Amino acid sequence: MKAIVKDKPGKGFSLLEVEEPVLKEPHDVKIKILKVSICGTDVHIYEWNDWAKERIKKLPQIDGHEFVGRVVEVGSEVKNVKIGDLVVADSHIPCGYCYQCRTGNMHVCENLKILGVDRDGVFSEFTVLPDRVLIKIDESISLKYASVMEPLGNAIFTTTAADLRGKVVLISGAGPIGAMAIEISKLSGAAYIIVSEISDFRINMAKSLGSDVVINPKEKSLIDEVMRLTNGSGIDVFLEMSGNEKALNDGIQSLKSTGVASILGVYPENKIDFVMNTAVFKNLNIHTITGRKMFETWYIAANWLKYKKLDLSKVVTHEFNFEDYEKGFELMISGKSGKIVLNVTNDEEG
Ligand code: NAD
Ligand code: ZN
Repeated sequence: MKAIVKDKPGKGFSLLEVEEPVLKEPHDVKIKILKVSICGTDVHIYEWNDWAKERIKKLPQIDGHEFVGRVVEVGSEVKNVKIGDLVVADSHIPCGYCYQCRTGNMHVCENLKILGVDRDGVFSEFTVLPDRVLIKIDESISLKYASVMEPLGNAIFTTTAADLRGKVVLISGAGPIGAMAIEISKLSGAAYIIVSEISDFRINMAKSLGSDVVINPKEKSLIDEVMRLTNGSGIDVFLEMSGNEKALNDGIQSLKSTGVASILGVYPENKIDFVMNTAVFKNLNIHTITGRKMFETWYIAANWLKYKKLDLSKVVTHEFNFEDYEKGFELMISGKSGKIVLNVTNDEEG
């Protein structure tokens, strides 16, 4: 089968012919991949930055972790899916037996294996995954939206950490996940949505998604502008989706006392400056987010898509053929895109 493989250190991937994976365990499921989407993590591995050099232990490895596919073969013990089912999967493969798994926190399993990072990913014609990470989805869900349900889950997990009904919300960073958070905030009853973003393409994307105001913090002081827009009271909820230290601190300083911050962003350095005393004296509720709540966020995502309550048409901005993956990666790096989908096969429309 063909696969997008990190086969050597340095920039780029190779499109290679590799062995098709086979079932090894009774709970394994073989899936024909229909569409995949590109994440920031894939870009790090493509660029082979310091994080990727440190984190990826074994080459060659198939990249990718966001996909939609169809079940083509099941192991003897598989009961939750059957041949022909349309499926998506969490990229975090939990052991199912550790303390975290057994206390409802599989997303931070002590023995976590991440697709495309710790083991072969899904940028290939077929993959084999354990049944416990699969979610069967409704046939009515558009395949290209199904392929981005994994980052959509990050956006849902972050956004639903706070009760948004009637609240003034600031979303910092309108990358693909921040853009999804705009849609989710509207659905969750936010009264007023302020977005902070520095790239022109994404400022326009945020505007088209129906945010009430978009601020470019390179042009205006974010804090001053938020205070002006809220008559000096500040925001109720802050969703940090930029991974930028200044955006984090500006957001914390824009919050009302007892406000809620939900932080998804990952920062270039582990140690960063943080306005800690401001957060303490405001009695803020700060949530940090990793992955998706398994599997609550998946069911929310599946229902919002099935019942057409969530519109991702302005978030998924480009589709390329699998073979043209380099165009997708270079576009993603340019920042002039939302989510980018690669069509592994053209056998199915949607
Ligand atoms: P992205 O990098 O595509 O988007 C970040 C956006 O923030 C960009 O559009 C960028 O222009 C904007 N930005 C940069 N500096 C800014 C500033 N000072 N003010 C306002 N906007 C600014 O990333 P994404 O895929 O949308 O993900 C969002 C963040 O979440 C990233 O930091 C990513 O690493 C992180 N992430 C975390 C998890 C997790 O499990 N914790 C999972 C996925 C992504
Ligand atoms: Zn575990």
